[in-house]
Amino acid sequence: MVTQRCYYEVLSVERTATDKEISRAYRKLAIKYHPDSNPDDPAATERFREAAEAYEVLSDAEKRQRYDRYGHAGVRGGGSEFQSTEDIFEAFGEIFGNGMFGDLFGGRRGGRRQRRGNDVRADVSLTLEEAAMGVVKTLRFNRNERCQTCSGSGAKAGTKPASCQYCGGRGQVLQSAGILRMQTTCPQCRGTGTIITEPCGDCRGRGVNVKSVELEVSIPAGVDDGMRVRLGGEGEASPDGGPNGDCYCFIKVKKHDLFHRDGSNLIVQLPIAYTQAVLGADLKVPTLGGQEVLTIKRGTQSGEVFTLRGKGVTDPQGGPRGDLLVQVYIETPREVSAKQEEVLRTLAELEQTDVSPQRKSFLDKIKSYFP
Ligand SMILES: [Zn+2]
Ligand SMILES: [Zn+2]
Repeated sequence: MVTQRCYYEVLSVERTATDKEISRAYRKLAIKYHPDSNPDDPAATERFREAAEAYEVLSDAEKRQRYDRYGHAGVRGGGSEFQSTEDIFEAFGEIFGNGMFGDLFGGRRGGRRQRRGNDVRADVSLTLEEAAMGVVKTLRFNRNERCQTCSGSGAKAGTKPASCQYCGGRGQVLQSAGILRMQTTCPQCRGTGTIITEPCGDCRGRGVNVKSVELEVSIPAGVDDGMRVRLGGEGEASPDGGPNGDCYCFIKVKKHDLFHRDGSNLIVQLPIAYTQAVLGADLKVPTLGGQEVLTIKRGTQSGEVFTLRGKGVTDPQGGPRGDLLVQVYIETPREVSAKQEEVLRTLAELEQTDVSPQRKSFLDKIKSYFP
């Protein structure tokens, strides 16, 4: 049986004290014995609680009257009203609202924010075709998942985490540096507001266990190298019951033998023979969906680009599908057969006298520089 101190004594006020005097006395004590200013001091926490209890009764005209008449017995539940300092903030938030605790201790339960689980990264390597068309891939990665044994509480079966004494269960503490006062995450409970006294054997109190997971991911058509696909909620479990993090699937696209990608366009370099460039030709061109025939006109120049509309890559942002750009270049044979050489020498002779208009105008320009 605990003997209770007189409420007037607790607040160090006269029995005739006014409401204002009671309120002032309580504030003084609340600041003095606040758990933030008295870390790891159960005695101070007890004084803090005691003061709150006294204030709760004496600040209420009706309760105060009953207390004056019947003592502790006259006030219902006197002595065990507040389970934690958290409850005290809950009950008296109003008088702390402006100034006082609002500035000093960051308001009532501001600090007990649930944390989101961490995001995780998974890498996936795609061929250009897969990236262009979309594909379903299986990701394998490790992540922290909620411990099944303790349902994420971190506490051994049959036990409960205790309210953190250091921060009074608020998860935040006040730090002073000169005239600056800063609110920071409680170093004792790391912001959770609770301390695990008997940790769960499976997760050793962490509330989460590392699990290797396999996840099927549907990669949308048109993704490009370096893009990320977000899988909402597929990241790590929160350490304190908050939402899961996300999984970011990083796309790597392998180099392709034929195609080079530029945004939603594909580029293919196509070697053609001199004669094809001169005479024009119907050529087979590779596209993502198979081969297509491209007609190049007579007199095609080396480096000229032909566009096959809509034969590029789907825009993952919903824009129009890209094109296939076919860049032709005239390939000079390193070796020719005797027959080819014979024909070419005849052609060369003809070109001496029958110069093409482009070459003729170039030769004329040189003449004007060096008359
Ligand atoms: Zn556990
Ligand atoms: Zn704490």
